[in-house]
Amino acid sequence: MSAKLIKGTEIREKILEEITKEVAEIKEKHGVVPGLVTILVGENPASISYVTLKIKTAHRVGFTEIQDTQSEDISEPDLLALIDKYNNDDSINGILVQLPLPKHIDEKKVLNAIDPDKDVDGFHPVNVGRLMIGGNEVKFPPCTPAGIQEMIVRAGVETSGAEVVVVGRSNIVGKPIANMMLQKGPGANSTVTIVHTRTKDLAGHCKRADILIVAAGVPGLVKPEWIKPGSCVIDVGVNRIGMNEKTGKAILRGDVDFDAAKEIAGSITPVPGGVGPMTITMLMRNTLKSLKFKLGA
Ligand code: NAP
Repeated sequence: MSAKLIKGTEIREKILEEITKEVAEIKEKHGVVPGLVTILVGENPASISYVTLKIKTAHRVGFTEIQDTQSEDISEPDLLALIDKYNNDDSINGILVQLPLPKHIDEKKVLNAIDPDKDVDGFHPVNVGRLMIGGNEVKFPPCTPAGIQEMIVRAGVETSGAEVVVVGRSNIVGKPIANMMLQKGPGANSTVTIVHTRTKDLAGHCKRADILIVAAGVPGLVKPEWIKPGSCVIDVGVNRIGMNEKTGKAILRGDVDFDAAKEIAGSITPVPGGVGPMTITMLMRNTLKSLKFKLGA
């Protein structure tokens, strides 16, 4: 039996359409649209390509987008002053600082300087705390975990009472998605286990999972025999395993042995085209939420 594919590319299109519609309604009713600023320091090619995609998506959904590009040698105080300027700019609802920053700048200090009510990436300690508390306290769930939860819900997978096993305990994926799935409420109410490199019986834990979320960054880590028949498998891993000589593009693989796993799982995300497209989508949703919080809409 072949698993149902949970396609991030399709879910992204639906969500972006929903956002575009809501932005138009807010514009009609309140005369404003969400404002997003992207601060890029230096000329790292990967950062430029991420930022370009974010800007393109922001324009597509009808946001006002400011791209603020700073030279590699901007001082830390100047960057902090820039953030302060946007913190106090009423037309800006979301502030993004593209990482990595040059070595002479303390990334933590910079991210912590963003107003938590404009921190649409959801990495500020205040937002991490809000996520931990759950319920109405949550303002901006971090984008990749939010995308994962959205995919599970939209695929119609039952989360209440489900055994969720999360492989990986990073601050950007593993810990927040585990926390989100155990909260009281829709799309959650799960029983959650987090596993990592010190876990004694990785396979044994994975085999129990009704929903297996893998964010390890190790190609093919999860073997088909670790997968519970009929379960939902979310593969967050994006691993470059080589280069396609014809297209000149990187060959990407997930953390799960996809070809074998899809014959056992009930539903599964592909790599690429699974979780990947959801991150920027959820960033747009968080920016819209930020304006809605401000308007009390
Ligand atoms: P990370 O910070 O490197 O964390 C990886 C986690 O996996 C760590 O907790 C590590 O355990 C655990 N791990 C590694 N090897 C393992 C093994 N053999 N057995 C059990 N646990 C193992 O990675 P990350 O930032 O969370 O990213 C994980 C993957 O997701 C990467 O491939 C990344 O590219 C991808 N990713 C994709 C998106 C997206 O699609 N939008 C977004 C973010 C990340 P220890 O803590 O014990 O070291």
